[in-house]
Amino acid sequence: MNKPSLTAPANPSADPATWLGVMGGGQLGRMFAHAAQAMGYKVAVLEPAPQCPAGHAADHLLSAAYDDAATLAELAEQCSAVTTEFENVPADSLALLAQTTFVAPSAACVSVAQDRMAEKRFFTECAALSGVLPAPHQFISSDADVDAIADTLLPGILKTVRMGYDGKGQVRVASREEARAAFAGMGGVSCVLEKMLPLAYEVSVLAARGADGGSVVYPIAENVHRDGILFSTTVPGPNVSAERAAQAQAAALAIIDRLDYVGVLCIEFFVLQDGSLVVNEMAPRPHNSGHYTIDACVTSQFAQQVRAMARLPLGDVRQHSPAVMLNILGDIWFDGDSACEPAWDRVLALPGANLHLYGKEEARPGRKMGHVTFVAPTLEEAQRQFRAACAILRIDA
Ligand code: ATP
Ligand code: MG
Repeated sequence: MNKPSLTAPANPSADPATWLGVMGGGQLGRMFAHAAQAMGYKVAVLEPAPQCPAGHAADHLLSAAYDDAATLAELAEQCSAVTTEFENVPADSLALLAQTTFVAPSAACVSVAQDRMAEKRFFTECAALSGVLPAPHQFISSDADVDAIADTLLPGILKTVRMGYDGKGQVRVASREEARAAFAGMGGVSCVLEKMLPLAYEVSVLAARGADGGSVVYPIAENVHRDGILFSTTVPGPNVSAERAAQAQAAALAIIDRLDYVGVLCIEFFVLQDGSLVVNEMAPRPHNSGHYTIDACVTSQFAQQVRAMARLPLGDVRQHSPAVMLNILGDIWFDGDSACEPAWDRVLALPGANLHLYGKEEARPGRKMGHVTFVAPTLEEAQRQFRAACAILRIDA
């Protein structure tokens, strides 16, 4: 096996046995593997669960804890570069890997994104460059902090500093009493209380930056969440003005530069009812709201992740078709109490339908099982097919 030096590009055409590694075995790792393999790489996945979406696609699955030193050494030895598919990977593991192989994004960048407190401090510090601030907030690590919650932050949302995703680890609170109960209910772990903002709509911006410092930014995506989970992504967003899109894209580029980031970064923003832009959070990896890029852009977010970590030129981010992405949750495998298989044959008969299923063994309510992206010559046509799919799948559009 030819393992290039730490600084040389991991050129896919030079050696078909060049390996790329990914920490995490979920659907983002699976789609990363597909993109890497399409470019001639072999893919190694490190994931504790022996059955996992990325493991089914990988050339090699290393089943071990994310901080298992011997397995990390094996992964670093095998791979020309390693990335991550989830932000809660131990940053120390990335730092260990970086001693002997190229790691992107870096442990330092991931550790900011995996800690809401560090993330909010970072966003606040770079507001002069990015032009955007996070929601008004206060850190809560004791009952005394709860007592000190400012009236202006209520009603608010109490979010755990670490490990939150898909709306898990957050509780809406209207008063200090509710905040106290919610803080206790979370076991007293460090939290941040955010003011509940009057959202007009939500957007996200995917950006990518290479090791040479060059960066690209994708078209802005408009997202609808239900119960804290992404429901759909529409690009171009029907509510997004050119001015708001430019502002969010400029903010994303300022943030990715300031982080000295290498890889794909997704930043979520709120647009408030008065039109102002607020930065919510960032994911140091491809993102659910970027799945539309697979079918609607010249370079998908996963191909971009491969290029950035392999230190190859970044790809064209141009969107060639309007797109609407529908997330597929496990709920649609159930009809009341009985199990049922969704009518994929009818969904795939719709023009412009692209089905992606993640190979998860078991459907559970709220579990992300796949997505369908509709592409069409016009946004209206893509939206029409999206609504038709929702009707077939018994989802309220
Ligand atoms: P994920 O990682 O899946 O994006 P998460 O669990 O990390 O989600 P957030 O993105 O912070 O959580 O919040 C989930 C959703 O809750 C947001 O997309 C938004 O709809 C709503 N939300 C979060 N914070 C606020 C706020 N301050 N004001 C109003 N709505 C909010
Ligand atoms: Mg979010």
